[in-house]
Amino acid sequence: MGTWNCQRCGNCCRWPGIVKVNDAEIATIANFLNIDEESFLDKYTQLRPDRKGLTLISREDNSCIFLEGKNQCTIQPVKPQQCSDFLVKWFPKPEDNCNAIYKDD
Ligand code: SF4
Ligand code: SF4
Repeated sequence: MGTWNCQRCGNCCRWPGIVKVNDAEIATIANFLNIDEESFLDKYTQLRPDRKGLTLISREDNSCIFLEGKNQCTIQPVKPQQCSDFLVKWFPKPEDNCNAIYKDD
């Protein structure tokens, strides 16, 4: 079995949709940004459409609020688990413009 290798194009950070954050991630990211959790929640999160938790805010163009330029995540060392799970757990459909390359082991 082969593996998909992410090409770090940043397209998945620009897709419409939510980026879940849980309590532990909120504490970690707020700490990384050197702000208190309340400021982090106010500035960077909102209620998910299903109202079951929080998501990082998207910009008008659907890009994640922490995306800088084409493909730089400004919270890369502490990005949420959902982002780390990408490709492995969320392998996208071709129409989603994922540029991952498949390599046989
Ligand atoms: S937190 Fe970083 S990796 Fe996750 S969607 Fe936003 S910019 Fe992309
Ligand atoms: S769209 Fe695919 S190739 Fe591009 S950064 Fe996301 S997972 Fe990697």
